[in-house]
Amino acid sequence: MPPLEILGCRVDDVDLAEAAARIVAYARDGGHHRVVTLGTEMIVYARRDPVYRAVVNASDLVVADTIGVVCASRLHGVPLRGRVAGIELLERLCELAAQEQLPIYLLGAAPDVARATAGVLAARHPGLRVAGARDGYFAPEQAAEVAAAIRASGARILFAALGFPKQERFLADWLAASGAGVGMGVGGSFDVLAGRLPRAPQALRRLGLEWLYRLVREPRRWRRQMALPLFVWLAVLDRVGIKKGTRAS
Ligand code: UDP
Repeated sequence: MPPLEILGCRVDDVDLAEAAARIVAYARDGGHHRVVTLGTEMIVYARRDPVYRAVVNASDLVVADTIGVVCASRLHGVPLRGRVAGIELLERLCELAAQEQLPIYLLGAAPDVARATAGVLAARHPGLRVAGARDGYFAPEQAAEVAAAIRASGARILFAALGFPKQERFLADWLAASGAGVGMGVGGSFDVLAGRLPRAPQALRRLGLEWLYRLVREPRRWRRQMALPLFVWLAVLDRVGIKKGTRAS
């Protein structure tokens, strides 16, 4: 299935199982593959930053992390099968990585959060090898050193929880140097896994209201979340023909 394009960003029509299977294959094939878990705020940001947009669109796999992206695809008459939440994909990949002996590396969040995430995932997925974990608060001059440490760890799957746009940029610049077969941006997932931030209850997630829950828990996000009404507006304009959503050929 060719990727769909929403407001200039490529999105792949995959479900969780298919995305996970593709990522495991990437981890094994000797290349360096980037995976984006695309949210509405990222699409709005990418409209203003063509370099970031190019980074997203040149990735090997882009999954719809939020319900807004899925709704926009429906609005365009080319509906995605559904949402593939980054945190759920991460968990599924840890399960598969444990089965297939693929070491993972956790890069991002505060030092205690990265370490706690490693502990939680190792406990939840017996046999999982966490090759390394380090925080995401390093200076740009340290990026080469961070990539070298990942390479030395022998990790095949790199989870980058640096928030957007930093995580996608880091992976575009440093994934090959890190030696990992696949790098995936996972935003604030480590904070949730380490128990520092609760995830929205299932009922709210089903209603597509995770963003509202996050806004109430983290009011400092309001400025970022102003991207949501803008996204809806742009998606509607796009739909009525100002610029059509298409399937890329
Ligand atoms: N973060 C980081 N380095 C930075 C900035 C942020 O490691 O320089 C981490 C931050 O601690 C948090 C995550 O990146 O764990 C960003 O989470 P957020 O919820 O903002 O990401 P989103 O999922 O919305 O992209």
